[in-house]
Amino acid sequence: MGLLKDKYAIVTGAASARGLGKATAAMFAEHGATVAILDLDAGAAEAAAAGLGGGHVGLACNVTDKAGCEAAVRALLDRWGRIDVLVNNAGITQPLKIMDITPQNYDAVLDVNLRGTLYMSQAVIPAMRAQKSGSIVNLSSVSAQRGGGIFGGPHYSAAKAGVLGLTKAMARELAPDNVRVNAICPGFIATDITAGKLTPEMNEQILAGIPMGRAGAASDVAGCALFLASELSAYCTGTEVDVNGGSLI
Ligand code: NAD
Repeated sequence: MGLLKDKYAIVTGAASARGLGKATAAMFAEHGATVAILDLDAGAAEAAAAGLGGGHVGLACNVTDKAGCEAAVRALLDRWGRIDVLVNNAGITQPLKIMDITPQNYDAVLDVNLRGTLYMSQAVIPAMRAQKSGSIVNLSSVSAQRGGGIFGGPHYSAAKAGVLGLTKAMARELAPDNVRVNAICPGFIATDITAGKLTPEMNEQILAGIPMGRAGAASDVAGCALFLASELSAYCTGTEVDVNGGSLI
């Protein structure tokens, strides 16, 4: 369909085999975008980019490293001359209870999910502002909206709620330059985060709370990211879109 024809997009944390980032990168490429996959391991990022077809880029980037984010974006700007879309997808979870969270746990989860979203956004904003166009899509979570969940932990909920606040504040500040910022709140999606970690009872319990009666697929989230990245959502900024099968009804 070419919704992202001639667009240049970055997706962080997109090397994970069954992850939301990889599905998003693949859907963007199908719709004509040239995509950069940024992830911790250079080889994995390059392999994931090669899997999208020719012309895509895989780079090592730890989103908690501000200088590293800036260097990756500079390399892409040197190559592409512009950046149209950033998807802040890199994230980690820790299934801990409130009293078990150490300062190190708290730092780690806030660093990747929240600090990484800020650093990558700061790295692309000057180019997007200069272009007078851009779309930043941030991955939050249903955990931000209702607190907790089997995989996340309270510090994950806090980080993802922070992502929503950051999304709205950035959207307000960047709107005059036609740079849009939106968030996606996925519910229970079948990915590596969830694969093999649920007993049949846990699975049944989760599905009972989802009116649509099924786990989401990575492509369900990717479709939402495509909408927010493309001009179909040209008048949407500061929004959060739930992709959760009705879990919050
Ligand atoms: P995943 O674990 O499959 O992929 C996460 C990726 O992020 C991995 O490739 C990992 O290497 C990368 N990563 C981790 N730390 C990084 C860092 N410091 N710098 C760069 N990359 C880093 O996760 P997923 O299930 O695909 O989730 C993607 C996003 O969606 C995350 O932000 C997650 O919190 C969010 N989310 C997922 C679900 C779900 O059910 N899977 C639900 C709600 C929200």
